[in-house]
Amino acid sequence: MSRTEPPAPPPQHKRLHGGAPETQRAELRILGLPVAAGIAIGPAFGATEPEARITRHKIQAADAAAEGTRLDAAVAQSRKQLAKLRGRLSVLPEDSQEEIAPLIDAYIRMLGPSRLVRGVRRRIEEKLASAESAALAEGEEIAAQIETQLEQAASEDERAAIRRRAEEVREIARRLVRNLTAAPFRSFADLPEGAVLVSENLRPADAALLDPSRLAGVATEEGGADGHTAVMLRALGVPSVMAAVGLAEAVRPGDLLVVDGSAGSVVVNPAPATLAAARRGVTAFARERQKFARLRRLPAETVDGETVELQANLELPVELPLIAQSGAQGIGLLRSEFLFMNRETVPDEEEQTENYRAIVEAMNGDPVTIRVLDWGGEKEIEALVSAGIVPEAADTNPALGLRGIRLLLRKPELLEAQLAAILRAAAAGPVRVMLPMVTNVAEVVAAREIYDRVARRLRRRGERLADKLPPLGIMIETPGAALSADALALEADFFAIGTNDLTAYTLAVDRGESDVAALYDPLHPAVLRLIQFAVEAALRMRMPVSVCGEMAANPRFAPLLLGLGVRSFSMNASAIPRVKQVVRGVEMDACTRYARRVMQQSDPRRIREVLEQARPETAR
Ligand code: PEP
Ligand code: MG
Repeated sequence: MSRTEPPAPPPQHKRLHGGAPETQRAELRILGLPVAAGIAIGPAFGATEPEARITRHKIQAADAAAEGTRLDAAVAQSRKQLAKLRGRLSVLPEDSQEEIAPLIDAYIRMLGPSRLVRGVRRRIEEKLASAESAALAEGEEIAAQIETQLEQAASEDERAAIRRRAEEVREIARRLVRNLTAAPFRSFADLPEGAVLVSENLRPADAALLDPSRLAGVATEEGGADGHTAVMLRALGVPSVMAAVGLAEAVRPGDLLVVDGSAGSVVVNPAPATLAAARRGVTAFARERQKFARLRRLPAETVDGETVELQANLELPVELPLIAQSGAQGIGLLRSEFLFMNRETVPDEEEQTENYRAIVEAMNGDPVTIRVLDWGGEKEIEALVSAGIVPEAADTNPALGLRGIRLLLRKPELLEAQLAAILRAAAAGPVRVMLPMVTNVAEVVAAREIYDRVARRLRRRGERLADKLPPLGIMIETPGAALSADALALEADFFAIGTNDLTAYTLAVDRGESDVAALYDPLHPAVLRLIQFAVEAALRMRMPVSVCGEMAANPRFAPLLLGLGVRSFSMNASAIPRVKQVVRGVEMDACTRYARRVMQQSDPRRIREVLEQARPETAR
């Protein structure tokens, strides 16, 4: 989605995080990861800090020591966050570093044995205040004291410096509160139309709150290109760049930005020539969209007549019109997490039934694969914490903890309500049920027992279910599942290969972590061999197998996946036309030969070379 130029930026000049001196600045280009295609031109806007939602104000005297420990942990976490930011400044131009580094150092000092931290501790011990309310009150008191100096200030410069110091104290107190309360929902309500959202970090649940029709683009400091936030942003079709190091500190609200979500660059205060090139880019992108729209009605068929299924992933219901326009043949992955996000209660069977039914009906007879809740990893879901289903303190290693099907089997009432809702929605159209994060056969067997039990209960209740229940399949997204695909194929009705987690778990790389983003490589031979193994296991059993991770959305990977035997792909709706274009330009035999050549390689660099040099597409 691309935008035209927005209204002139507002006059105020304040850093998105804390104050800093005002100077006339030249164009600054920051490189990050390309996340969602398109070019956005718009004024920068920092997301409103979440209101400090302090629910515990007072503590018991006996809890004071434990509260002190909570404070210590929040201080340590805040220092770690800032040290990380500080460490990454080296990629910025020297003058930007000189400006930003002292500010971060001041923040870090305030988290040492400072007046602020001492004062917070005193409030906990003497006033029995909770750590978060103590941090907020102490920060405000110190900031207000600093501001009393405003009256004696001799110049405007001196007054500005006083205000900045006060704001820095408030900023650190807010950071402590955020870390103490694991800051829940953000507000994007005051995001002006046509703005570019600039943020240090954006959680998947935050992205779910964005309105793509009002927002020009998104640029963040942190994140990985296949993390869940990135997946959401692509789904929303908002041009986005993540892992743009130094961004939040370099940008001031209202600065004009050019976000190129295809190239992965953010330009702050673009020079006239840059701006003109960006405007041309916006036009070219729109033209390309129109060209792709014509592909919508053409079949996804190879040159030699083999049909390929191209389906859409859905993370939010707002995507339904986009899916309808894309020519998708159904939904290959409905991530049901959206129903559980940004709320404090877990949706019950009725609410879930209504939601699934509405989506199934909207798909007009095209199949919908509904994945049951995949909680865990980076997908934090507050409702589960509020409802006491998962503990407030995260696992030490959440990606390897109680994620996906593991949680659902531990809390079967969650799975039962969801399966009942899906079975009821299946009356409105073809549905499949999918289990996330499976690692062993016992999980599929246990889930199927619950599935059958739920069906029996619904029938007893008088629900009219078809004799044959909708297929129950699994995600292949862990190396364990891929390598036991032959055994899993005996229990599951279909496979969907989740290349995002499969890559992350195979290579031990966090999907959403910018520091290791360069190591995240779905073309690593280990990942490709696992995909091949799982596809072959499915094909031997004549069982449906699809790829629904981000790899499916990359048109450059389509011939390889076709050559490995994949005939079904599910991806964000806007990627479908490009993949279709490639499918329509290849012959299946050529793809098979091509995949064989790629799979003979064991060096990821060589794999990339062969992938580019031996492409089997012909123009059509
Ligand atoms: C995957 O892991 O590839 C996948 C499709 O699931 P998610 O991105 O929701 O974890
Ligand atoms: Mg996954």
